[in-house]
Amino acid sequence: MKRRTFLGLGAAVAGATTLTTEKSFSQAIHTKPARVIVLGAGFAGLSAALKLHDAKVDFVVLESRNRVGGRVFTHVLDDVHDLRVELGAEWVGKSHEEVQKLCKRFDIELLNNQFETDLLFRGSYQPSDQWEFTEEWKKRFEEIIKNFNQLSDAQQRELDRMDWWRFLVNNGIPENDLFLRELLDSTDFGESIRHVSGFSALSEYAESSKKNEMDFKMKGGNGTLARKITEHIGPDKVKLGYHVEAIEQKNGKVKITCTNGETFEADRLICTIPTFSLAKIKFTPALPKEKMDAINALQYARINKHAVLFSERFWGREDFDLITDTSGHYFYHATKNQSSKFGALISYSIGEKADVFGWNDDTFRKQIVLESLRPIARTEDYFQKQVNYYWGTDRYSKGSYAVYGKGQWFGIRPVLAAKFINIHFAGEHIADWQGFMEGAVSTGAEAAEAVLS
Ligand SMILES: Cc1cc2nc3c(=O)[nH]c(=O)nc-3n(C[C@H](O)[C@H](O)[C@H](O)COP(=O)(O)OP(=O)(O)OC[C@H]3O[C@@H](n4cnc5c(N)ncnc54)[C@H](O)[C@@H]3O)c2cc1C
Repeated sequence: MKRRTFLGLGAAVAGATTLTTEKSFSQAIHTKPARVIVLGAGFAGLSAALKLHDAKVDFVVLESRNRVGGRVFTHVLDDVHDLRVELGAEWVGKSHEEVQKLCKRFDIELLNNQFETDLLFRGSYQPSDQWEFTEEWKKRFEEIIKNFNQLSDAQQRELDRMDWWRFLVNNGIPENDLFLRELLDSTDFGESIRHVSGFSALSEYAESSKKNEMDFKMKGGNGTLARKITEHIGPDKVKLGYHVEAIEQKNGKVKITCTNGETFEADRLICTIPTFSLAKIKFTPALPKEKMDAINALQYARINKHAVLFSERFWGREDFDLITDTSGHYFYHATKNQSSKFGALISYSIGEKADVFGWNDDTFRKQIVLESLRPIARTEDYFQKQVNYYWGTDRYSKGSYAVYGKGQWFGIRPVLAAKFINIHFAGEHIADWQGFMEGAVSTGAEAAEAVLS
């Protein structure tokens, strides 16, 4: 474990103590459980299930959707040329060791997915080698990053109480550099940098790979890993279309009721679902107020992904991406390493821009995308088809991934992570690598280890 290590375990354990009342503590079991239920077949749930499978513990995974992978969602955009795009998670980072280990175990090749970013700003198109931050800001930012490890606990908390935009302004960022950072950094968080905890942002930039963890993609699409884990643990162990609506803890057991009327009982539950879904479940006994407040406080970022298939890769280079101040926001070559004359670009928009994409229809979306790309080519000549996914209205998460606002990293994350009687929590939203597949995988494995210990 690397980033934010000091918080990862210590604070979660402290939170667990707070939320495990004396009465509930007496109900918690401390022997290896005979049976475990895993809620959610995203990367956190599948990673937990894999650990349980390896330990030969009986388990079942319950999943609302009719597919595995959750917010990892590979889509075949063109079946003639077998071109696949990611409508959810895209990049595996160089620092993402747990995901890489799983890829190795399941024989999934990781392909280079790095890009060189062009800029379209104020109507002027600048190729990747012709735009830069000012020398003054580059130097200042290097110092800030270098000093990150020296921040005291009190300084980290202070930084958490400030938004990233304010932190940059207080550190003297020139106005044009600030505009560029807003465009670039908001793609990482899915919302404006005015809404993001300064600590959450700085730790991400200080501890990430050179390309900010935008390094690799799984051959065949990231969904391949979800599929292969499911095949390995046994598809009969993963129940699709099982939407959990109630969780009852009684006499050391956990009983689950699904909307189809089926019930399941086990000694422990690993719950990996996003907070929007969590809030809708009826818990008996009820979740502690502190936890409910934390669940209600956490927001998820609005990201829209709009993939467009073109008959030619008119953008020229395989490592093409483009940051813009248009509504299309950020474009990248989504079919890099997939050989075909055809190719796809994804428009990745965030915040209110994503809302506008999500709320409108394909005619509108097509117009925005083709207009934004006009400085490169007469894009309408190559247009084939398009597909859109707006995570802001996703039925189960209502957002792409958690976005920690001012004061929330230290304030609510430990509360969200805390165990409740025989329920262990996991998922990207409580991870050190929050917002990444790595975070989902590692919290899932940690929850399974806690259950087994
Ligand atoms: C647009 C977008 C871009 C991203 N880009 C990247 C990236 O480039 N790199 C990266 O590493 N990560 C990225 N991520 C983040 C990554 O996808 C997530 O961190 C990770 O997939 C979350 O996994 P999880 O298991 O925690 O949650 P989920 O994948 O959400 O899994 C939880 C599962 O629980 C199910 N569920 C919910 N409620 C219930 C219920 N009541 N009963 C039963 N089941 C239920 C859901 O259907 C879901 O399948 C991106 C995400 C999005 C959306």
